[in-house]
Amino acid sequence: MADKSFNPFAMAQAQFDKVADILNLDTATRDLLRYPMREYHFNIPIRMDDGSFKVFRGFRVQHNDSRGPGKGGIRFHPQETIDTVRALAMWMTWKCAVVDIPLGGSKGGVVCDPHNLSMREQEQICRGWVRQISRDVGPVKDVPAPDVMTNAQHMLWMLDEFEAQHNGKFPGFITGKPVGMGGSLGRTEATGYGVIFTVREALRELGMHPEETTASFQGFGNVSQYAIQLYNQLGGTVICVSCWDQEDQTSYSFRKKDGVNLEELQKISDKFGGIQKNKARDLGYEILPAEAWIEQDVDILVPSAIENQVTAENVTKISKQVKIIAEGANGPTTPEADKIIHERGIFMIPDFLANAGGVTCSYFEQVQSNMNYFWEKDEVLGKLDVKMTAAYLAVSALARKRELYMRDAAYVISVSRVAQACKDRGWV
Ligand code: GLU
Repeated sequence: MADKSFNPFAMAQAQFDKVADILNLDTATRDLLRYPMREYHFNIPIRMDDGSFKVFRGFRVQHNDSRGPGKGGIRFHPQETIDTVRALAMWMTWKCAVVDIPLGGSKGGVVCDPHNLSMREQEQICRGWVRQISRDVGPVKDVPAPDVMTNAQHMLWMLDEFEAQHNGKFPGFITGKPVGMGGSLGRTEATGYGVIFTVREALRELGMHPEETTASFQGFGNVSQYAIQLYNQLGGTVICVSCWDQEDQTSYSFRKKDGVNLEELQKISDKFGGIQKNKARDLGYEILPAEAWIEQDVDILVPSAIENQVTAENVTKISKQVKIIAEGANGPTTPEADKIIHERGIFMIPDFLANAGGVTCSYFEQVQSNMNYFWEKDEVLGKLDVKMTAAYLAVSALARKRELYMRDAAYVISVSRVAQACKDRGWV
């Protein structure tokens, strides 16, 4: 991660404190919302393929469930820490509230690098994670989902383990399941598409036409790939994407000034979104240093990798041409960088609004699972567009009315909804 001393939980708390002041929240409500309700830390012992044993560290943090069962993904990441999971759980609370779905905020993680694990070892980690936590999660308590380096297959192994433990079929235990196994059509596309639904609305409000714009993306995982697909469909041109290179243990940016070709890059990328650079070079891409994505003369920047990527050090490299930053990742911008972006008047679509499409579609998956009746893809994506657009318009209207930065406006909406739910329940 870019800055070793950076603590995402401290950042999430600082963002909350600022909004608590704007909303004039009482002390008990602040104390309740500044910290998670519950958190679980556990060991996951695994027998590796070579016969040796290895113990992985797992977490689940339940930040707040006043508006409904906890909801949030599970990340597999070598640098996962309890503080990243705490921050991400808190952001999930605000994310579900900003799109007004009846769910709370949770997050999980395992300290591991799936690049270096066989499928069998990954399956054991998934099953081990569920075994450690299965009494404290479930359809009416806390519902996991995919996130960084986890996918539909991981979710199905977790579901299978949960169902074995609880002796029944509980499709509502987890979302992001494979289509045909309780998953929703459109779930894979949902986060990336959701980012572009908000970008489309922002462009409309700024009087810009998508087909006259360019963008640069950080990350080439699930979020970026589908965001690029929809942005291209709207007529936009992506000129640069950056991604992690497993072989060199570093990131590169790949640039084609007349526009990157999504399908071409997908053909030469691995399932974690790493692009093979020699093949990219043969296809005419310029191979640039990791941070080149942020320096491009484009209209839109979309950081869609992990937290702590736009920092006080690199924020000054953002081109004067940039009008919009849409945060596909959770927590990509540090508070110092955010302040500078605000001062420069770049239009910010904050993470828990921009990337809320994933959890919104997870909610649709729960609804479909409960009815045991599954919608067509167009219906799912149409409903997603309606929800994301409504959430975006509510935030931008409040930002204009109260002259707030978009991040603060989104926070005001979310935190007041959650604080109200806690009050109504008689918690504070
Ligand atoms: N992991 C995604 C997120 O950060 C989706 C969570 C979910 O579907 O529960 O929003």
